[in-house]
Amino acid sequence: MQNEVAVGPTVQEKEDIIALCRELGQKFKERAAKYDREGSFPVENFQDLKDAGLLGIMIPKEYGGMGADFLTYTRALEQIAIGDSSTGLTFNMHNIAVGSLAELDIEGIGGSRGRTMKKFVEWVYDQSVNEKKLFASASSEPGIGAHFSKLKTMYRRVDDGFVINGVKNWVSMAGYADYYVVAARSEESAGDIPAISFLVVEKENPNARIEETWDVLGMRATSTNPVYFKDCFVPTEALFLGSEGMALYKIAREPHWLVGGYNGVYLGVSTAAFEFMVEYLRNKKKPGTDIPLAEDTRIQHRVGEIYTRLEAARVATYRAAKIVSEKVGSQEANNAIHHAKYMVSELGPWLTAAAIRLCGGTTIHKRLPLERFYRDARCGGLMPATSDECLLYLGKAAFGNDLTKPDQTYW
Ligand SMILES: Cc1cc2nc3c(=O)[nH]c(=O)nc-3n(C[C@H](O)[C@H](O)[C@H](O)COP(=O)(O)OP(=O)(O)OC[C@H]3O[C@@H](n4cnc5c(N)ncnc54)[C@H](O)[C@@H]3O)c2cc1C
Repeated sequence: MQNEVAVGPTVQEKEDIIALCRELGQKFKERAAKYDREGSFPVENFQDLKDAGLLGIMIPKEYGGMGADFLTYTRALEQIAIGDSSTGLTFNMHNIAVGSLAELDIEGIGGSRGRTMKKFVEWVYDQSVNEKKLFASASSEPGIGAHFSKLKTMYRRVDDGFVINGVKNWVSMAGYADYYVVAARSEESAGDIPAISFLVVEKENPNARIEETWDVLGMRATSTNPVYFKDCFVPTEALFLGSEGMALYKIAREPHWLVGGYNGVYLGVSTAAFEFMVEYLRNKKKPGTDIPLAEDTRIQHRVGEIYTRLEAARVATYRAAKIVSEKVGSQEANNAIHHAKYMVSELGPWLTAAAIRLCGGTTIHKRLPLERFYRDARCGGLMPATSDECLLYLGKAAFGNDLTKPDQTYW
């Protein structure tokens, strides 16, 4: 691929990616209630995503992917999540791993470091595009959450590789993903900023054990379970990008994947709830009359208010994704992504509660999707950056703190 100029998708191709995800999202919508009720992983949806080539959505076209930018990705993910938010959330976990690689200028790095990185990147691309393999993100730990600077999972160097020991208690797609991208601290880490690296562990590794405990309020079809790593050996090539100790610096400088990848998911949940609400109010009659609730000015006024807040979050989300696409890693992009994460995360619980209040008691019934949207939306502000962390970040940014320094962030 050297010397070839990377060509991104045309405007029409970007719209085609979004349309493809809209089409699949509508298919997923039919299956969402079943997966939610069972708390089972949406295997059929992932087969559809694989068949459509979407595991390569972020991968450059010259490697057989779709080459989406962050804005196209966000809008495409929104369409998937309108149909099924658990599928959207887990699909995003794969893209957190893959998407950050697609943004690298590997050719510009050169030398043996550049060659090692390129080999790793091409392996991930091949696994995603040709082998249709899924990557999961295994970072959060008991009592630590996703605070990377506090991680207790350790790794040490041995001949030909590394040995990992620790527990990850929130691994979405556990048991279904083909690889776990595990964040761990080097046993040799010294100094104020811990040396955190990512290591890729195969699902079949005998020293990676899953425990099935996921029985929760919302996002029930994500199979988010603990994975235990006990003297878990991985070869040298399993080191993410072949580089050690850089994870904290990287996520401080470019937090958009970890923070803003979910934005499309939670915007999708609120959009689905809004669309349901409008349709419901169009058909539901005022008690004791034949007049649709949609004709009541009190209802119209309230729906108008909900619409303005939904659109404010949408504008913030698309704007942030556009700035990321154009100026990745800039303070402007990082502020925008935290702002949007806060907006969508706080919108969901409010909007879905307002929709239930407006539509009435019938909509808490499980045969209707609104109560699921209400439960799923509740999860947005719990995922990194939490709503409180977004505010902290934006406050610090307003005071001019240098947020490229890991110890200035909440990580
Ligand atoms: C549906 C779902 C799927 C997920 N999937 C994954 C996944 O695939 N991979 C993964 O790695 N993780 C995943 N996570 C986990 C997620 O990334 C977070 O780590 C997790 O939600 C944190 O939960 P926590 O409340 O235990 O921890 P924390 O975020 O640490 O919060 C605990 C409490 O402490 C408070 N708090 C935090 N920091 C401070 C502070 N400095 N000062 C004062 N108070 C503080 C918080 O407000 C909160 O009340 C998932 C989470 C959800 C909900």
